[in-house]
Amino acid sequence: MITLADLPLRADLVGQEPYGAPQLQVPVVLNVNENPYPPSPLIRHEMAAALVTAAGTLNRYPDREATQLRADLARYLGHGLTADRVWAANGSNEIMAHLLTAFGGPGRRMLTFTPSYSMYPEYARNTCTEFVTVPRRADFGLDAGLVLDAIRETEPTVVVIATPNNPTGTVVGLDVIDEVCSGTEAIVVVDEAYQEFSSGPSALELLDRHPRLVVSRTMSKAFALAGGRVGYLAADAAIVDACRIVRLPYHLSAQTQAVARVALAHADELLAQVRQLAAEARGFEAWAKGRGYAVIDSQANFTLIGRFADRHQVWQDLLDRGILIRETGPDGYLRVSAGTPEEMAALRAALDDLLPTIEGTTP
Ligand SMILES: *Cc1c(COP(=O)(O)O)cnc(C)c1O
Repeated sequence: MITLADLPLRADLVGQEPYGAPQLQVPVVLNVNENPYPPSPLIRHEMAAALVTAAGTLNRYPDREATQLRADLARYLGHGLTADRVWAANGSNEIMAHLLTAFGGPGRRMLTFTPSYSMYPEYARNTCTEFVTVPRRADFGLDAGLVLDAIRETEPTVVVIATPNNPTGTVVGLDVIDEVCSGTEAIVVVDEAYQEFSSGPSALELLDRHPRLVVSRTMSKAFALAGGRVGYLAADAAIVDACRIVRLPYHLSAQTQAVARVALAHADELLAQVRQLAAEARGFEAWAKGRGYAVIDSQANFTLIGRFADRHQVWQDLLDRGILIRETGPDGYLRVSAGTPEEMAALRAALDDLLPTIEGTTP
């Protein structure tokens, strides 16, 4: 037997641990911003039928251009987009891997604004891209001056701005994205993983004016398809061509393409659920404010609440009551995903139960 230490692992990976949120079997799972509703029986049935059809072709490689899926995604996004301006992959994390493989790499930098998504440093590390960060404003927002100053200082080839941002839920205005894109030659990736939950406009509106702008989306959250692994981007066709160069051959399986197309065909039903989940999150925020918690105003399907003197203890106490939330974000805060009304009621009851024991909580 050998151990990892015996292997010729890349020097920059030595000592690194696989990263990820705990996957625990508990009654109430509110830790990774998933949609709590499984696909409806009708959608499940159609997915099964599509999989039977796909199974009949599994002796052949899948469509490596995912042409039909990309056309469906373009239709869903609107804004005059066509399949050649949309790219799809196994989750938006593979979309980011394609972008950084194409536009990052040794000697190049990726810039983002903290606090932000915990996977960004991994995408950079895996592609040997230097990861540089600049803090967001105290209200977790961004303005064009802050972003453009950071770009001048760090000279990245890829800038990533998440809006609504994870873990804060805060949004960056289109005026800011517009000004940033006008002021840099870098690829600007706007990560809109939670856009469907937001009431604000999408950076898709700016695509025609900024050929280096990329809007990244996912089916993991709004489309209740985290297990299906489908992410996608919209951009200039030249950016899609760059992704096509670096993608692994046949990266998107026939099953994945088939299942995603069924989910997209039911966009109306799923988006109605999205509005309900956004309302659930906003309702939880109002409740938490009423109880004296500090709450960061979110436009996503999750909320940061605090401030806890010992957030780990609160996280553990909730877990002991069968409720899994996420220990992430600025000091003293915990992140809660919107669940079903029953799950949110259980969370509120557990927090009320705990409140007298939560030490040093500053409303
Ligand atoms: C959840 C999330 C994603 C989606 O990742 P997938 O790989 O598509 O599941 C992307 N960006 C952010 C900021 C997220 O929180």
